[in-house]
Amino acid sequence: MSYKVSPVGFVHSCFKEKFAIPRQPQLAPAARGVLELVAPFDQGEAVQGLEQVSHVWLLFLFHQALEDKPRLKVRPPRLGGNTSMGVFATRATHRPNGIGQSVVKLDKVEPGRLWISGIDLLDGTPVLDIKPYVPYADIVDSATNTIASSAPQLIAVQWLKTALQQAQGHAERLSEPLVALIEQCLAQDPRPAYQVPTSEREYGAQFWDVDVRWHYPEPGMICVLEVVPAQ
Ligand code: SAM
Repeated sequence: MSYKVSPVGFVHSCFKEKFAIPRQPQLAPAARGVLELVAPFDQGEAVQGLEQVSHVWLLFLFHQALEDKPRLKVRPPRLGGNTSMGVFATRATHRPNGIGQSVVKLDKVEPGRLWISGIDLLDGTPVLDIKPYVPYADIVDSATNTIASSAPQLIAVQWLKTALQQAQGHAERLSEPLVALIEQCLAQDPRPAYQVPTSEREYGAQFWDVDVRWHYPEPGMICVLEVVPAQ
């Protein structure tokens, strides 16, 4: 038996590659994007009433992680990448039907466009459905999860003076909170947990249209080296 689903829209996101995207929504409030709805959902009627809602659930496709062969067990990065778990015990991207779900902040509603923040979505992500967050039903006070009991521990983020000036310049040009975005994302420590970085090793990721490069001058600390136009 098969069912047909098709996207109601696509996300234009600050995240242009998977590396350095936070592992869940809400971890980087400065991560912003626009969900562009497609016909017939680009009509004003489809979003009427949404201005009364602060957050929405997005159901989406992990379009850059789709696989033909379903996995029963996965190795979540959260557990260091070397412990395997039943796929249904995790939020791993490699999963049956490749469906993700995120609660994101709804900053502005326009016919055909939702302005969203606190996102963990790659640019171009196809969105299958949008539902209002309903606090009385969606907050479960007694909920526990001992696999992921709290948000990841943050690490310190420092800047070279020149890198901070570059980021401030691009933030102004883009009219985006780029400095906060970089700090919030790098504080999550995007490096795979199994990699022990030497201070010489440099890492990089693209946010909006800029490449950000950083290194670890000592364990548990990031220093941003440069923020330059993406190649
Ligand atoms: N909040 C969602 C969930 O629980 O279903 C996503 C959790 S998943 C662990 C988050 C990661 O998915 C991000 O760090 C990013 O690397 C990856 N990701 C985001 N959008 C994606 C996409 N469209 N295709 C593939 N991977 C994506």
